[in-house]
Amino acid sequence: MLVKSCISIFILSLSQLVCAEPLRFSLHKIESGMPGPTLLVIGGIQGDEPGGFTAASMLVTNYKVQAGSIWVVPNLNFESIIKRSRGIHGDMNRKFNILSKKDPEFDEVQKIKKIILHADVDVVVNLHDGSGFYKKKYINKMHNPNRWGQSIIIDQEVLSNEKFGDLSSVAGNVQQYINQRLKNKNKFFYVKNTETKKGDVEMEKSLTYFSIKNNRPAFAVEASKSFLTYERTFYHLLAVEGFMSELGIKFQRDFKMTKRDVSKQIGNNLKISLYDNRINLNVERARRYLNYVPLKKHSSLEYKKNNPLIAVINHKKGLKIRYGNRYVTSLNPQYFEYDNSLNSVTVQIDGQNKKINIGDKVNVEKNFRVRASSDYRVNIIGYAKRGVTNENNILIKRKDIRSRFSIDKNEKIFRVELYKGNKFSGMILVDFSEAKNNQSLSLLNLDSTHIATTH
Ligand SMILES: [Zn+2]
Repeated sequence: MLVKSCISIFILSLSQLVCAEPLRFSLHKIESGMPGPTLLVIGGIQGDEPGGFTAASMLVTNYKVQAGSIWVVPNLNFESIIKRSRGIHGDMNRKFNILSKKDPEFDEVQKIKKIILHADVDVVVNLHDGSGFYKKKYINKMHNPNRWGQSIIIDQEVLSNEKFGDLSSVAGNVQQYINQRLKNKNKFFYVKNTETKKGDVEMEKSLTYFSIKNNRPAFAVEASKSFLTYERTFYHLLAVEGFMSELGIKFQRDFKMTKRDVSKQIGNNLKISLYDNRINLNVERARRYLNYVPLKKHSSLEYKKNNPLIAVINHKKGLKIRYGNRYVTSLNPQYFEYDNSLNSVTVQIDGQNKKINIGDKVNVEKNFRVRASSDYRVNIIGYAKRGVTNENNILIKRKDIRSRFSIDKNEKIFRVELYKGNKFSGMILVDFSEAKNNQSLSLLNLDSTHIATTH
């Protein structure tokens, strides 16, 4: 018996290795349903330029449009972003001219080329973080014509006969839009023309020049690497808003356009949902490790997320959650069979009975009491009372739960798990934060991602 199960586990882990999906970029269409142009914004062509991919991801999570559309690929070189590398298979922005079919990124490059050339796309903007500060005349080592930071890049002055094909004046107007909103002249943007056609062999291989060659207006925006990520993100968003205003795309965002507010938005609401909402975790302020997370036995992991920069990856015996190039937390699993019979549970919250859906997070001021049917066993992680194995129907206050079992560093959010026999039925979270921050950002409309787990 023992031998047999060893073999099946071995086969299982082999087949799981084979079907592990690599990280792929995602396309998010933010559409108004009203006529107007479509702007394609791309971030993360290089994995070490967080200003660009963070700004692009915020378009997905914090913006709506009222006229026209923005299509966003915030994580073009997702694998490199997650691995904190400029390019794990070389510089992706040199793969748009000639590329061997054997290149590991061949398929991804083909996919993004198709999106760039899609008939609905009017203008392409590629977001980069560049070194120093571009200036027309040499000032010093960091401020000169060979630097890239704080610039809008065009490959040539004009793309004839195309709508928005006067690249030079579109870029000039966007430059003006940005600089009008900046107080500090040292941070002003300028237009840099690489004059690619005149023999810039490196730029000929770039994404924007591929677009230009195919008569699709394209620009690159470079925020200076001299700034921290949040400040680069701020400049990128200003630039994208400049392009939207230039194209006549009407937009709305849910924060104020200041460096401080941009900074507060970055990574402030990160959520993953496992196995069709059986487990939902808010991980923006998660502890370094979350232990005994009940994952599904004999199954690949299926998850959804609310931010395109989130990735869940296999790491040692557990799972690591990353947000762009930042570490978020690790899940150390305990494997269970799953029971799918439970969709909601009654919980008495501060004296009031409420029906709570499995996977939800509830705010508790003083106390709560789970009132599950007798078929289920309740386990409140961090609560222990001698002789009690089922924590159903017990009045629980914050001080009854040991702080180190919270999922967050602030020691406010705790797990309540329900089991039927030996099977896991689902989890809810109780949140003792005083501030009622009922963020209800929905999960991204993506196919759920499957990854193989080794167990
Ligand atoms: Zn770049």
